[in-house]
Amino acid sequence: MERVILIKNGELALKGLNRSTFEDILIKNIRRSLPDIELKAVKAQSTITVEPPADCDFDTVADRVGKVFGIAAYSVAAVCEKDLDKIDAVTEEFLGEKLSEAKTFKVEAKRADKTFPLNSREICVELGGRILSRHPRLKVDVHAPELTVNIEIRDTRAFIHAGQTRGAGGLPTGTAGTATVLISGGIDSPVASYMMAKRGLSLEAVHFASPPYTSQRAEDKVVSLLSVVAKSCGVIPLFIVNFTELQEAIRDNIPEEYFTLVMRRMMMRIASIIAEKQKTGALITGESLGQVASQTMPAIRCTDMCATLPVLRPCIGLDKTEIIATARKIGTFDISIEPYEDCCTVFTPKHPKTRPDPAALEKAEQKFDWRPMVESAAAGARKILIK
Ligand code: ATP
Ligand code: MG
Repeated sequence: MERVILIKNGELALKGLNRSTFEDILIKNIRRSLPDIELKAVKAQSTITVEPPADCDFDTVADRVGKVFGIAAYSVAAVCEKDLDKIDAVTEEFLGEKLSEAKTFKVEAKRADKTFPLNSREICVELGGRILSRHPRLKVDVHAPELTVNIEIRDTRAFIHAGQTRGAGGLPTGTAGTATVLISGGIDSPVASYMMAKRGLSLEAVHFASPPYTSQRAEDKVVSLLSVVAKSCGVIPLFIVNFTELQEAIRDNIPEEYFTLVMRRMMMRIASIIAEKQKTGALITGESLGQVASQTMPAIRCTDMCATLPVLRPCIGLDKTEIIATARKIGTFDISIEPYEDCCTVFTPKHPKTRPDPAALEKAEQKFDWRPMVESAAAGARKILIK
């Protein structure tokens, strides 16, 4: 029995003339999500059909494909010739077991090929009757059936499936441009990465490490986190910035209450340089309003003014519990809670300023010559490709 994956691409339907380009990008992303497999993917009649080769594990492929952004839902369908007897036989082969377990069912037919001798209603009646005669305990329930047998008669072939599985949703990665995420090993920034990639952005990432205060394990953790996100959005170039010199200079020159904020301002400056050089269109952070002292409105104003690109903060209106729920759903939570030190927790002030004043911060920063340090940190960033 030949099986395929039928893709429903939700929002793409809204994109008018761009639709075809969007679909082409989605097909490219689907192929990229399974680089080791020769997938056949074609678009026809508002559906993309993905055909894995016979020798691969079909369910694993379907699961992987469902994680690609831009796919609202998908169905695993059996395929056969447009002949009622064959459709009936394949329905039994493909769904027989489910039909014998269910109490109620209905047949739903769609006939895109109007030359097929039976119309949709006739297909339902004829096939429904044949199914009932083979499964005498089954009952028809057209309103709330346990199992719906879908028959789609299309241009070239007939497709049989038992409904849809939800996909990752969103827009295909790459259709909205590229942005640079500031990724820590925490819970929030991987969620922010995922949320923005879901809206069609390709990602690049910047991570600040402060060896020896932070360990290799902390860096590995960021790599693991981004690998999870990359499953949905494709390869992510990660720039690892050595932040030690700047952090020590901040510790030695800046009043303690400003430590975190000056550090965050330096991060914005360095990330902006890297993003501008890479020609990405924005920065992304995992900030959530009021979550910590450096994320109050006045604090955000002080960090935002150091960025030269728009800063996207998709978690800004989410509670921690909501961010955690998403982290669990996308599979980053368990990695995020591994205990390795992040550079933010090195030299944490006891009483951080929650209502900082930009002028006071600028004055404090004049205590040391940070510009060459910022530039050399950005220039010395180490690039790794995360797949
Ligand atoms: P997260 O869970 O993402 O670490 P957080 O609640 O711990 O967030 P902060 O540590 O104040 O918040 O950081 C706010 C944002 O700054 C992070 O979401 C992230 O975008 C960025 N950031 C913090 N630390 C780093 C780092 N070491 N490297 C890169 N970006 C960072
Ligand atoms: Mg953090």
